[in-house]
Amino acid sequence: MRRPNIRWRLTLWYGSVLAATLAGFSVAVYALTSHDLLSLTDVALAEEVADFAGDASRCRTREDFARELGPRYGHLEGYESQLSTREGAILFLSDGLAASGLSLPARRARTDQSRFADGELDRLGHVRLAWREVNGPIGPMIAQVAVSMAPNDRALRELLTAMLLAGATAVAVTLGGGYWLARQALAPVDRMVATAREITSTRLDRRLTAPDPDDELGRLAATFNGVIERLQRSFEEVRRFSADAAHELRTPLASMRTQAEVALQSPRSPDRDQRVFEDLLEEIDRLTRLVTQLLFLCREDVRLPSGEALAPAVRLDEVVADVANHMNVVAREKGLALELGENPPCLVRGDVDRLRQLCFNILDNAIKYTTDGTIRVSSRCDDGRVVLTVTDTGIGIPAEHLPRVFDRFYRVDPARSREVEGTGLGLSICRAIAEAHRGRIAIESAPGRGTSVVVTIPVESPGRA
Ligand code: ADP
Repeated sequence: MRRPNIRWRLTLWYGSVLAATLAGFSVAVYALTSHDLLSLTDVALAEEVADFAGDASRCRTREDFARELGPRYGHLEGYESQLSTREGAILFLSDGLAASGLSLPARRARTDQSRFADGELDRLGHVRLAWREVNGPIGPMIAQVAVSMAPNDRALRELLTAMLLAGATAVAVTLGGGYWLARQALAPVDRMVATAREITSTRLDRRLTAPDPDDELGRLAATFNGVIERLQRSFEEVRRFSADAAHELRTPLASMRTQAEVALQSPRSPDRDQRVFEDLLEEIDRLTRLVTQLLFLCREDVRLPSGEALAPAVRLDEVVADVANHMNVVAREKGLALELGENPPCLVRGDVDRLRQLCFNILDNAIKYTTDGTIRVSSRCDDGRVVLTVTDTGIGIPAEHLPRVFDRFYRVDPARSREVEGTGLGLSICRAIAEAHRGRIAIESAPGRGTSVVVTIPVESPGRA
């Protein structure tokens, strides 16, 4: 069976709690009232039976009973009286009892105490009965008085009816009011659901609204909006990344196609064919580099920083020395000096290949964008982190471009970089690697004077080899 919605559940809860409370309250009021009424009846009845017994004890002969007791107890409104011997012989009966020919059951009771019981009488219906023993000149007698309980029963019935009516009305009003209140309180949820349904990958700009930003629904809406905001940012990033990647791939492909077309339309010449194939190979190399870097970035995105703690320890100083050594050959070919300065032993947790890639990219840039001078590499360990610095004396980067050089596919002044091989992905890869190692990367530059790249990564155990 389908569970009723929250609105109905809340309403039913209100209703049931109120109904239970009212029922408990009504039972208590009814029990107290009926007890009080009975007590009052018993007090009056006890007085009546005491008077009756007192008057009876003063009668001397059997004839006295009818004469002395008849006028007072013969037809007392609502009361019936009986006087009998212990053995059950009737000495006096009130008019009502005499007419119906009934007698009250004789029961034993002490002289000084009245006893009470409930009973039924033909004429009076439900009655309360009190009796006691009394000693008279003719021996011990039993005086009994019965009073009709009809007024009490009527009062209790009226009380019950009033409580049932009031209770039913209160429960009905609560159910109606509760449903209305629950509907009012939950109306924003329906609006939020409707808005959330409109959110798709193409409509991530929609946001949920709640009447009060500080209540539960407001906080839920804010949390949900935060999630959508992050989703929107990553969607946009993915879209931009795909568009940029497609664009970058199209350029070399178009160039390769043009070269192949021109070569096909021209008469065959071994020399020119050789050149065309070499150019095509160069473009293919460029494409391969680009695709490798793109794949690298995609994989870097899915690396979880929490996995870093379980990563193996890497001697960063050895990685730096190794890459510097390797790049020294490239630098020398270009007539540049590459100096490895201070580089103390230093352990970091991470991926040796990625750290190698990080050093390689920075040194590759330093060599690419420097025409003459020296490139200096150094590292130092302090304060629980290693700081790797690569400084060159190259063309530098104008200040307005500095904030964007870590963006994917961003190249400063493409015209200036045209003769230099590059995809604009190198530094974004460096940043992804540094961040995957809980580190940071920063760049400082003075156009025409040189550039300095600083990478900071937490160390596993400072200075320990
Ligand atoms: P690229 O593949 O173009 O080198 P990067 O992401 O590595 O891409 O660098 C982005 C841009 O930053 C480069 O196009 C270049 O203009 C600039 N740049 C990076 N490193 C240096 C440097 N050492 N000296 C001057 N410019 C640099």
